Amino acid sequence: TDRIITPIKFEDEIDDPAIRPARLDEFVGQPQIKEALQIAIEAAKIRGETLDHILFSGPPGLGKTTLAQIIAREMGSAIRSTTGPVLDKPGDLAAQLTALSSGDLLFIDEIHRLNPVVEEILYPAMEDYSIDVMIGEGPGARAIQLPLDQFTLVGATTRVGLLGSPLRDRFGLIFRLNLYEVDDLLSIVKRSAAILKIPISEEGALEIAKRSRGTPRIANRLLRRVRDYATVRGDGSISRESADNALNILGIDPLGLDDLDRRIITVVARDFGGGPVGVKTIAISIGEEVRTIEEVYEPYLIRIGFLKRTPKGRETTGAAVEHLQWEC
Ligand code: ADP
Repeated sequence: TDRIITPIKFEDEIDDPAIRPARLDEFVGQPQIKEALQIAIEAAKIRGETLDHILFSGPPGLGKTTLAQIIAREMGSAIRSTTGPVLDKPGDLAAQLTALSSGDLLFIDEIHRLNPVVEEILYPAMEDYSIDVMIGEGPGARAIQLPLDQFTLVGATTRVGLLGSPLRDRFGLIFRLNLYEVDDLLSIVKRSAAILKIPISEEGALEIAKRSRGTPRIANRLLRRVRDYATVRGDGSISRESADNALNILGIDPLGLDDLDRRIITVVARDFGGGPVGVKTIAISIGEEVRTIEEVYEPYLIRIGFLKRTPKGRETTGAAVEHLQWEC
């Protein structure tokens, strides 16, 4: 989708390297995760050992890739990055693994989308630092065991429930990232504005933070769009008023909801009397994929208490209905 408030990166969007935190202490929020990582990193360094394999789960845009890069920097290690769907054949993963030197990190984004035959290569690689490769073809083919240098696998997934336990159990550290509080998003907006040298008032930053759906990537994207507005319609500095105007033009309401969110709520609340209604029905009604609804839209609607997931389906709350106040 090309909606401005999708937490997923646009195809041509680059996460500005200048505003991506490079060190653990620049990473805003998530204090438990930061502390646990800091201890694990320090301990590995003191003992001169390779860091345990680490899994990050949570909605897109919350900092999983950023944390992987931070870990590499804090460890003083090199990092190779790939994604589950790109590793089509066992050989693709074998090529990545054999290219790693001792202590290097391998980051696999969307690790829940690994082909099962590829995933199987990963088990002995994670556990014993070795892979079995087939030499030759047909009746003469034989498997040889190839030792690997000790490495750290960092996996990221938006759907930890889709990971089988053989893979999940091989991670020594598992962290779940939750949507950020407005306070943290406010710090992120102010930090990014300072780095990009955008003059911004406290209230202007707060307005952007409140409409960022708990997601740092969206906060940074909205900051850029509001800066455009302030450049064209004002003196380039961001106030509460310019932030409010710019975000209204983009169709983002005071809680960060856009038209699609409102359609989801409307379908459940009005067309299905508040639910429960199955996510497939919602998907058909609004013309979106089930996976997109579950991974992209719902986490925030649930977080702000507008939508509930029940065993029988989705239900809307009074707060949602009150917020929308459509004409009946
Ligand atoms: P994910 O891998 O979870 O989809 P990313 O790590 O790519 O998310 O984060 C998206 C962008 O959001 C990053 O480029 C970074 O600038 C910003 N970001 C994410 N988390 C934080 C944070 N805790 N503090 C500051 N900026 C963050």
